[in-house]
Amino acid sequence: MINSFHPPLRTLMGPGPSDVSPRVLAAMARPTIGHLDPAFIGMMDEIKQLLQFALRTNNELTMPVSAPGSAGMEACFVNLVEPGDKVIVCQNGVFGGRMKENVERFGGIALMVEDEWGTAVSLDKVRALMEQHDDIKLLAFVHAETSTGVRSDAEALCRLARDYGCLTIVDAVTSLGGIELEVDLWGIDAIYSGTQKCLSAPPGISPVSFSERALEKVRQRESRVPSWFLDKKLVMGYWGGGQKRAYHHTAPVNALYGLHESLVMLQEEGIKQAWERHQYHHQALRAGLEAMGLHFTVDAPVRLPQLNSVAVPTGVDEARVRSLLLERYGLEIGAGLGVLAGKVWRIGLMGSSCTRRHVMVCIDALENTLL
Ligand code: PLP
Repeated sequence: MINSFHPPLRTLMGPGPSDVSPRVLAAMARPTIGHLDPAFIGMMDEIKQLLQFALRTNNELTMPVSAPGSAGMEACFVNLVEPGDKVIVCQNGVFGGRMKENVERFGGIALMVEDEWGTAVSLDKVRALMEQHDDIKLLAFVHAETSTGVRSDAEALCRLARDYGCLTIVDAVTSLGGIELEVDLWGIDAIYSGTQKCLSAPPGISPVSFSERALEKVRQRESRVPSWFLDKKLVMGYWGGGQKRAYHHTAPVNALYGLHESLVMLQEEGIKQAWERHQYHHQALRAGLEAMGLHFTVDAPVRLPQLNSVAVPTGVDEARVRSLLLERYGLEIGAGLGVLAGKVWRIGLMGSSCTRRHVMVCIDALENTLL
C-alpha cells in the first residue's frame, strides 16, 4: 500500500521554486469550481488586471499560460517566429540557448550574440549585428539569467530593437517581482515569466503579455502557428475578457487561485516596495557571505539581488555542502548549471524566500557547515 505523500519541511533558497506563502497554499485548497463558472471568470479578469499591474502594462493580451515558464517561452516564439525570419538571440547563460532552439524549431534563423557566462548581454555586439543585417525581425534575450545571476539592460536592449525596427521577446522568468521591469515604458513586445520565482506561487503557470505590435505580427502571419495549444489567437477565445468565453482547455483552476493570491499579496506590498525588499535583503546576504570569506562571481553593477552566484571555495566539495544543508537545516540552495556546474552555488532570495529570516538561516547554516 502506498501512503499519502507528505513533503519534508524545507526552506527554499535555490534558483526556484521559492517558498510559497501559507496564504497562497490556503487559497489553492479552496473548492474547485468549473473553469467556465461565472465566479471563476470574474477571478480570471482579476488575474489579468493583477498581471498587468505586476508587469506594468496595459497590454490587452496579458494572461497566464497553463504550463511552466518553458511553455511561456515557446508561446512567444511559436507565435512570433515565421519560417525564414532572422532573430537575434543573446546568450549569456543556459536560457539563451533554449531561445535559439525555439527559433530554429519554428523555422527561423538564429543570429547569435554570445557573451561570457556571468556577464551581461553586450549592447555593442547586438548593435553591430543589427548594422550588418537590415532584415532582422526579432531580438530575444533573458532579462535575469538564473543560471549565472546576471541582469542585462532590458531597457537599453528594447530601445535598440526599436531603433532598428524589430520586435523584442524578453525572458522575465526570474525578474518579474524581483527587479525593476517596465513592459510599456521600455517598449517590450512579448514577455513571459514564471510563477515559482519572485511571485512565490507554485510552479506550473507562465504569465505572458504581447504588445499591439506583436499581435499585429501574429495577425499578419502567412503560415499557421505550428502549435494548437499555444496559438494565441485560439487561446484568447478563453482568456480574451468579458463573459463570452469559449472552452479552449480546462484551466488549472486551483493553481490559478494560488497565482491570484500571490498577485494580491504583491499588490498589497506594492511592486516598487517588492523590488526594494529584494535589494535590501540581498545587501544583508552579501555582507554575511563576504564576512565568511565567500566571493560573488558576478560584478556588482549587473548582479541580481534575487539570485546570488557565489564561488565554491577551493577544496570544498560543493555537492556535499548542499546535501548537508538539506539534511541538517532543511535548506535548499542551488548548484551551478552548465559551464558553472561544480564552480558556484546559486542562492535565491526570491519572493516569499526574500526575508530577514531567510538571510539569517542561510548565513548561519552555511557558516556552521563550512567551518
Ligand atoms: N527562463 C529562465 C530564465 C528560467 O530561470 C527558467 C527556469 O528556471 C525558465 C526559463 C524555464 O521555466 P520553467 O522551469 O518554469 O519551465
